[in-house]
Amino acid sequence: MAMVTMMAHIAQKCNFCEHDAVYDGKTTFGPWAYMCENCFTLFGIKKRGLFKELPKPAAVIQHEGMHSCIACGCILPVEDFDTYVDKQGKERYMYLCRKCAKRIE
Ligand SMILES: [Zn+2]
Ligand SMILES: [Zn+2]
Repeated sequence: MAMVTMMAHIAQKCNFCEHDAVYDGKTTFGPWAYMCENCFTLFGIKKRGLFKELPKPAAVIQHEGMHSCIACGCILPVEDFDTYVDKQGKERYMYLCRKCAKRIE
């Protein structure tokens, strides 16, 4: 259950390279494709209605003193997140806000 919610927020990959896609749009080749910023500059048709900007995956949005929850997609103050210590011994915030963590438990 929790896994499905998380999958929805995994970034769409660019169809031309390994970067995360930023746009879904028509290419100069004809078909539509997911493109990163760079590939959109190279292959994208920069015409209104022929591309759309993809919503940013919540997990990559970073704000000072704020953290995004990958389950509800909300950007909340860091106080709303539990912390954990990663392999490097660095303290990090959980991917789920306290409310969602409780809901999924
Ligand atoms: Zn690309
Ligand atoms: Zn949440």
